[in-house]
Amino acid sequence: MTEHVEFDSICPKCDGINHVRARVGERMVEVHCKHCTHGHNYLHVVHQHVIVKEYTPEEKLRNKIKSLIENKEFAFIGKRTTICLLTLKGGYEAVGKSAVADEAAFDEEIGKKYAFEDAMKKAIIALGAFLNKEDLK
Ligand SMILES: [Zn+2]
Repeated sequence: MTEHVEFDSICPKCDGINHVRARVGERMVEVHCKHCTHGHNYLHVVHQHVIVKEYTPEEKLRNKIKSLIENKEFAFIGKRTTICLLTLKGGYEAVGKSAVADEAAFDEEIGKKYAFEDAMKKAIIALGAFLNKEDLK
């Protein structure tokens, strides 16, 4: 996730309001007025701003796939392996697995967590190409 700040700035030349985005922590921003006929650059001192959080395309895709999950099932097989079956809206199924190297270290919750992540990865690869950009806004 990335963050930037946004604020409205009044042009000293024409009184027009410009909506500006800048990096977090920036105190002085050069604003290009889009209202002045020939354009006008001036410095804006940032007092008040809104921090805007933005998800990366990968995070958006992951969130989208997560929202499509209708059912999660887990199974433990052998002594160190966990299987996760995700059923998504529309009936698509993705299987993930995880295994610990040392069976003495096997932990159900950790096994479930990694098997889930593995199934998510597979669902993202399989479905990512089918979701168009509109779905990810
Ligand atoms: Zn202006």
